[in-house]
Amino acid sequence: MAIRVRVKHEQQSVVPVRFVRAVTGAPVADAPDVDDRGFAMGTRADTWGESDALGAMVSLAVGDTVRVKVLREDIEAAARLYVTSTDTDLVRVVHPAGGGPLPDSGIFSIQGVADRQNEPVAVQVRYGSANGPVVGELEPHIFELVHIRLAVHLVTIDGAGTDRRSANVATTRTNVDTLVRGANAIWRPCGVRFTYADARIVEETIRRRVAPATGSEYLHRPSNTWRALPNPLGAAANFAAAGTVTTDAATYPDPNHQYDEFDTLLNINPIANAVNVYCVHAGTGWVGLSYVTNVGMAGRAGLGLAIADTASTFDLAHELGHYLGNNHADADNAGHDTDNKDVWLVRRLMYSQWPAGAPAYRNDVGYGPNQYGALISVKTLDGDYSNADGEVARSRLRARNPY
Ligand SMILES: [Zn+2]
Repeated sequence: MAIRVRVKHEQQSVVPVRFVRAVTGAPVADAPDVDDRGFAMGTRADTWGESDALGAMVSLAVGDTVRVKVLREDIEAAARLYVTSTDTDLVRVVHPAGGGPLPDSGIFSIQGVADRQNEPVAVQVRYGSANGPVVGELEPHIFELVHIRLAVHLVTIDGAGTDRRSANVATTRTNVDTLVRGANAIWRPCGVRFTYADARIVEETIRRRVAPATGSEYLHRPSNTWRALPNPLGAAANFAAAGTVTTDAATYPDPNHQYDEFDTLLNINPIANAVNVYCVHAGTGWVGLSYVTNVGMAGRAGLGLAIADTASTFDLAHELGHYLGNNHADADNAGHDTDNKDVWLVRRLMYSQWPAGAPAYRNDVGYGPNQYGALISVKTLDGDYSNADGEVARSRLRARNPY
């Protein structure tokens, strides 16, 4: 059937297919989210070279085989589609054999072969045969896997109800694996893998004291002795509430001291050459906290993050995203959350605040109803939120020098 195309504004892309995640529901390591925001690639100064590929980008690790789905947006279900790579030294099509025809599911598999700078590659969907006309393009970025060591501190503040060894506490030695594995499913396409070891899961104890005694103490693990709190709380101050890292403005009205408990926590028995993750029972109004750190801060003490017992794998992955240098996806140029509820922002791992449950459609951003999105942006788009874009590139820069 002939198609008449009327070109507007000097150029027009007619794209009968799109690329989407191969699965719905929770993030899966071998089914990366596809950054399909916009078609014009621009010069992409912050990312990798230039290419004339039109369409979506995806990232994957060298050696990994990942699944991506072709969505037939404007093409007959009976049309035979084939998938090919423009450079099989960089990425190759693993399934379907010979590139096609694509199965009814639209799902194909590609394998990352090599990580080379400024060598763009495209996966092309072709009509009719492996030599047919190109009807859609996906630009994969392939990365060597970088490992980042985590040190996990299971923190008890005043024992009762927050004892890390009791079975009713959410974050225990036994479920660290679940948390880290979930975060790894989200970060795998960026070529980042978080590791932990039994020796780097440690228990910390803080005990508050009441008048006339003053000042909380913590167990200094290397010497097994009780010591006064490190700064900024220091010897005279208390953690305000049992089991809790308090950061609310009512307790700490001076904004310069609002995060003193958090900053103090990060100085309790930190383990060198690891990202220190402090698991506490509760935070005041947060389930995870981390500074947005950058490469220039490498080697500085007092960096790390905290998660509460209610934190999910998504929350851990989000805080690790901050640690790896990323502000919120909806941050404006001054770094403030805009609370913009556009789905293309809400879908991002680094989105600031999940929208309310109603209207319900707002809460399905491709991961199922009321499921957080976990897209880590590959593209750097021009526009209001470009300062928060290019998360893969920014994170990898930090990941290569992470401690
Ligand atoms: Zn955040």
